[in-house]
Amino acid sequence: MNEQLLKIVQDEILKSRGSSIRRRRSGNLSVASSAWVSTARLKDEFGKAISIVLNTVGCSHARGAAGGCSMCSYLLDGTTRSPTPEQLVTQFEGAMSKLDGESAPLSVKIYTSGSFLDPEEVPPNVLERVLELIAADDRVVQVVLESRPEYVSDEMMSQIRSVLEGRDIEIGIGLESSNDDIRNICINKGFSLTDFQSAKKIAAKHGIGIRSYVLVKPPFLTERDSIVDAIKTITDAIQMGVTTVSVNPVNVQKYTLVEYLWRNREYRPPWLWSLVEILKRTHKESQGIVPIICDPVAPGKERGTHNCGKCDAAFASAIRDFSLHQDTEVFERLDCDCKKTWAHNLKHEDASNLVHATRMK
Ligand code: SF4
Ligand SMILES: [Zn+2]
Repeated sequence: MNEQLLKIVQDEILKSRGSSIRRRRSGNLSVASSAWVSTARLKDEFGKAISIVLNTVGCSHARGAAGGCSMCSYLLDGTTRSPTPEQLVTQFEGAMSKLDGESAPLSVKIYTSGSFLDPEEVPPNVLERVLELIAADDRVVQVVLESRPEYVSDEMMSQIRSVLEGRDIEIGIGLESSNDDIRNICINKGFSLTDFQSAKKIAAKHGIGIRSYVLVKPPFLTERDSIVDAIKTITDAIQMGVTTVSVNPVNVQKYTLVEYLWRNREYRPPWLWSLVEILKRTHKESQGIVPIICDPVAPGKERGTHNCGKCDAAFASAIRDFSLHQDTEVFERLDCDCKKTWAHNLKHEDASNLVHATRMK
């Protein structure tokens, strides 16, 4: 890896964050940062899934000297003061009450503004209590816990499996790209493909799957390269044996390096056309065995994945439809004049960057 280049990227990430981290507000430490219920496909049935973002001190990688990932400001959703164990459990119980009245099958997805398995964010006694609360709810058939790979240990996987018994369990890990240079230099993710594979292996020993997040269009890649990288990453992840692939187009978050580049007109979030292309091509590869899901943040908005403005709503709805039914047929009816602009961009962006760089010199 090019350490010099990485240092430049890290310095720029820290500059973009500025003092935003110190200016975080603590808010009410007994209430989760957010929680929402949506429809989800759970094996061959449809049910409800709750996504819970616990309010914690946030991601260790973003709080550390490396500055965190170039596109992420989740840390700003966290708090400067650590909630007490009781407050964290209250956050979880309050969020789960949104499932009152819902019937089985249910899925519970737990995020923090970092890693649910990091003991600094979620102390072991809180982890244990949360698992017990889930285990006591017979409606829950699936549990997804998000974490960086370094917190996936044999001991922890064994504890999770024994408390949650036969439920379908996945650890959500942001692989982002299977290319070490893209993951570490463009994104500053701070872990290698080998780290990801070791976490996968440890989880698999306990019958726990991996939900792998794949980033579409990290900074410094052209639109075309980002399509190629996402397709390669999804294909690699499926070959490595992940149980679900979640495709995440970059959305421009505040106080990030991506936002800095975007404000300087050096970054555009991915086209919805690109996203559809990636989903269509990789669906074939997965043969329906590994679900590929995508729920873009802010589709059609300037800061989110978008096309021309006229066709964005139809694309976003087709993508959500695809995630639920795993059928690429929904993409066949999509069409718009902006396809020409997108295709032109794919063909000429590399060359125009080269001319731009030469002129700058
Ligand atoms: S993407 Fe994940 S690992 Fe990276 S800074 Fe955000 S929370 Fe931390
Ligand atoms: Zn359009």
